[in-house]
Amino acid sequence: MNAVASRASTFDMRTVVVGAAAVSALSGAALLRAVEPGALWPCAFHAITGLHCPGCGLTRMLHALVHGDMARAWSMNPLAMIALPLLAMMLMQWWLARPLVPARLNRVVHDGRVWIVAMVLFGVLRNLPFAPLAWMAPG
Ligand SMILES: [Zn+2]
Repeated sequence: MNAVASRASTFDMRTVVVGAAAVSALSGAALLRAVEPGALWPCAFHAITGLHCPGCGLTRMLHALVHGDMARAWSMNPLAMIALPLLAMMLMQWWLARPLVPARLNRVVHDGRVWIVAMVLFGVLRNLPFAPLAWMAPG
């Protein structure tokens, strides 16, 4: 396989992946538009432990987003509200094979340790019941 053919197949594979992600996102949005908030799945971790995991409120956040309620979406899962556009940006960069943001920001968002630390901290802090941190719990 020559360099041109290899590059073309890589581009096609990336386009298929991004297209599948876009179709999945649009399908999920259409599904969430059709259901009532009470019909969403509860978090199994929360049901068992009574604690909020880092993902608690994610489905309700997405439900609020597709209904245009940004404030409610933020109140359900602020970390996911921050992560969602960053993940979309990372996917677009991978698809286009070129950076869309400054290198310094790129290094941070592509560092898995940053995501792990953010999720663990968020998971702990949103369960603390006092005023400066209680806003992180969903609802
Ligand atoms: Zn949860």
